[in-house]
Amino acid sequence: MVADAGHPAYRARQLFHALYAERVSSADQVSTLPKEFRSALVSEGISLGLPEIQKKFTSSDGTVRYLIELVDHETVETVWMPEGDGGEAGDGSEAGAEIETHNSRGWRRATICVSSQVGCAVSCQFCLTALLGIKRNLSAGEIVGQVIAVLQDQKVAPPDERVNLVFMGMGEPFLNYDNFIKATRLLVEGVGIPESRMTVSTAGIVPRIYDLGSEPVRPKLAISLTAPNDALRSELMPINRKWNLEQLMTAAREFPLRNREKITFEYVLLKAVNDSPEHARELVQLLRGVKCKVNLIALNPGPGIDFETPEEASLREFQKILISGSVPAFIRRPRGRDIYAACGQLKRTLELEPAI
Ligand code: SAH
Repeated sequence: MVADAGHPAYRARQLFHALYAERVSSADQVSTLPKEFRSALVSEGISLGLPEIQKKFTSSDGTVRYLIELVDHETVETVWMPEGDGGEAGDGSEAGAEIETHNSRGWRRATICVSSQVGCAVSCQFCLTALLGIKRNLSAGEIVGQVIAVLQDQKVAPPDERVNLVFMGMGEPFLNYDNFIKATRLLVEGVGIPESRMTVSTAGIVPRIYDLGSEPVRPKLAISLTAPNDALRSELMPINRKWNLEQLMTAAREFPLRNREKITFEYVLLKAVNDSPEHARELVQLLRGVKCKVNLIALNPGPGIDFETPEEASLREFQKILISGSVPAFIRRPRGRDIYAACGQLKRTLELEPAI
């Protein structure tokens, strides 16, 4: 675009640096650009603005949930999850894998959970975002913009401090694949977050799993499984009728993993639906031979969701069966319960109760 307008290509690099490294919010502030170029950008109505934080909720466990407003006034959620001793946010389940020290603010690392779409088209029966329907895709700039808005608000500048990203907010990243990939490149090159600290989660858009495997720069892969057989999975996650477990597991087995990398499978436990010892044993069989780990997530309940959170005992029992079947399994503690921190929960709750 810069080159098309007759400017040298290095101007684009200067703009890129100003936007993503210096985090300017207007073309006027880009001191490396000539004055005429700056005013041309402003008069052409080219906005360098970041998405704005419209609301911010801080949980007693340190989680901060942001409602972020885009240029067309649509909103998405972005979550900041700092981890202290033994914290369990995001993908940081291999505690002890690295010797880490606390920084001055008391966290070892933090995870930002990023949205990829306004709403979602995949109708998982236990998910609040699904109830919103799909409004639109986010641009690559809007995906990156969420991260920058949160880093600015938290006054954190990677790579100096350890920040992980999970594409596990609102939306299905693999149904907005091109913008999601563009965003990951910008985040690596422009913001300084290494690809090894990013994880993308999919409900199971099988062709895009193959595409991800051939990307030169890519996050780690997580797959939302939530059921160990087709009958149950098709009920809970209708996307399974399009790509069934055999197709999904073949894609997982064929996924070209990097050295020491594993696929993460997420399994949302729903009381008396998918949380029995029998389900756990079936899951062990399903995952046989796949280099993976499982994150067990107790349902975060919400308005309009007809499922209940499992008992603590069945969660423990489920984990035990996986581990004794040689499948590494971690229980993910719900974060920010007091601030409506399940996927899509804040936005949905605000829509139902505009007073909070
Ligand atoms: N569409 C992608 C990413 C967004 S959902 C995907 O499906 O993976 C991110 C994770 O949150 C998924 O593992 C999903 O199963 C889980 N999730 C959705 N609703 C939930 C709820 N009410 N409680 C707990 N986890 C939930």
